Amino acid sequence: MGAHQFKRLVLLGGPGSGKGTLGRALAERLGVPLISTGDMLRQASEAQSPLGHSVKTHVEGGTLVPDDVMEHVVDRRLSRQDCLSGFVLDGFPRTLVQAQALEGILAQQNARLEGVLLLVVDKDVALRRNLDRLSCPRCGAVYNRSSNPPVSEGICDVCGTILDARKDDSRETISSRWDVYRRLTEPLIEHFAEKGLLHRVQADRPVLEVLEDAWSRIGGNGVLHDSPQEP
Ligand code: AMP
Repeated sequence: MGAHQFKRLVLLGGPGSGKGTLGRALAERLGVPLISTGDMLRQASEAQSPLGHSVKTHVEGGTLVPDDVMEHVVDRRLSRQDCLSGFVLDGFPRTLVQAQALEGILAQQNARLEGVLLLVVDKDVALRRNLDRLSCPRCGAVYNRSSNPPVSEGICDVCGTILDARKDDSRETISSRWDVYRRLTEPLIEHFAEKGLLHRVQADRPVLEVLEDAWSRIGGNGVLHDSPQEP
């Protein structure tokens, strides 16, 4: 009998580690939704919804939206029908309080998290990626000016919208987002390692290599590549 294929996943990693790109590809292969809290908050800001108004300054300035707001947003999203068989979470949890909230949300659904993929990349490499990043304000597709440009310059391949740099991708804001990551999110590495859920993936490699590595670690093709690792 093949190994169990993990379908309830969290992606962890600093800004620019490639969570969005990997998340998209993994979610597509698994046939589960990609839940990017950053995309959800940016869309709420664009739509000028009450949630959008309350989070806009955090999202643009690279500070964290309060935990209770995030718990509410994620609880509502994970309660939707399409998450019943699994999900890939990109950008949540980002604090220990959020990690505990996620466990509570899943417990209510008689489910539990199956794996956490930590994307390991140097800050310098990630910084370069952020500075070169272009994203689609409409569908969320992500490009890189040098390593993964769109077919027509400045236009989204998927939906034809004019691409934009994210407001929080300025050098200064990226640097403070890394500080926030180190202080509030990095403790989650140990938290998930202790629970036996953590898998490290070296992420400073071509996208397909990262994908195949991640895939084998979550039981893709019926094979478990390795057991969970210590921090
Ligand atoms: P991301 O697209 O994941 O880099 O997120 C962009 C911004 O959205 C972050 O810098 C935060 O301001 C906000 N955000 C996204 N996810 C969370 C979260 N789990 N907790 C708090 N703030 C978040």
